[in-house]
Amino acid sequence: MKDIKSMTRQELENDFSELGLPRFRVKQVFSWLHRGVTDFSQMTNLSNDLRAQLAQRYFITAPEIARKQVSQKDGTIKYLWRLGDGNCVESVVMRYHHGNTICISSEVGCPMGCKFCASTLGGLVRRLTASEMLDQVLFAGIDSELEISNIVLMGIGEPLDNLDNVLRFLELVNDPDGLNIGMRHISLSTCGIVPKILELAEKKLQLTLSVSLHSPDDAHRSEIMPVNNRWNVDTLLAACRTYFEKTGRRVSFEYTMIQGVSDSPQQANLLAKKLQGMAAHVNLIPLNRVAESGLKTSTKQAVAAFQQILQEHGVTATVRRTLGSDIDASCGQLRRKYEKEERPCKPGA
Ligand code: SAH
Repeated sequence: MKDIKSMTRQELENDFSELGLPRFRVKQVFSWLHRGVTDFSQMTNLSNDLRAQLAQRYFITAPEIARKQVSQKDGTIKYLWRLGDGNCVESVVMRYHHGNTICISSEVGCPMGCKFCASTLGGLVRRLTASEMLDQVLFAGIDSELEISNIVLMGIGEPLDNLDNVLRFLELVNDPDGLNIGMRHISLSTCGIVPKILELAEKKLQLTLSVSLHSPDDAHRSEIMPVNNRWNVDTLLAACRTYFEKTGRRVSFEYTMIQGVSDSPQQANLLAKKLQGMAAHVNLIPLNRVAESGLKTSTKQAVAAFQQILQEHGVTATVRRTLGSDIDASCGQLRRKYEKEERPCKPGA
């Protein structure tokens, strides 16, 4: 059995032509899948025979909502999805004035080991398929009845550790007969897997690359992000410059403010210096406390001072608004809580 929703248009065309089906069937089936049908029997413009034939060959993924939390403060919605094999991942729907944005997961768990992040505490369980990424967008839209116009790949997992499936997902979500979400409405966040950044640059997609920097110096960055031991700050920034040259898209940097680790004025100055001439944008993120890490968030004053230094050097910097703070809305927190308190998000549970 094949996962039909993970198949590209081209793959579906090849398969259908092997089955001797006319070309217009591809578009019909594709449109149904991307409207969130969960069974071939719902594809009412296909004959019963064809529905049965397809059901023998393919399966259609559909996650269950294991938990849903709605913020009383700002309407942010957090979904915990139970996937076909029992594993769970999270997505968050945020309402911004420029449109509703969904933050989706790309892996179950994460192999990267960043010290401040709840998603990586149990390591990587497995990578998501393209359909499992698409389903988060599709079913969050259906359940919330909100039109979702923007996607950020900033949930659980490292998208560039799952690049092939992520590229497949991007192609699917971009399709005019599918959700038709333009690349300029999509951001992909990475902790800095340099060869994959360079591979992505070659695709010349118009999405926004966000790089989790969190410190401009190797000593501090290596302390909180093991990936820095493999590709250090200068190597990473060189890849970002290449990305900008190849795609013409300005790279955005995420910078988590951690007391005593990433928030000193010296680091602000060094960061400004290293970003000179890069047309970069820095997003300062107050650390969301994860009990296991022992790390603390910076004071408001430290964040403001850091931002000011960057701006004085001509580097645009914004402070990320915290949405959904009453519903465990940051990365990996709901999945962990659910695992601890209720039933484990594991196959067979
Ligand atoms: N693996 C990707 C995307 C997932 S994390 C990446 O590393 O970019 C999305 C963003 O949230 C990253 O910038 C990450 O560093 C940040 N983040 C993770 N845990 C956090 C926490 N407890 N507080 C603040 N930001 C956090």
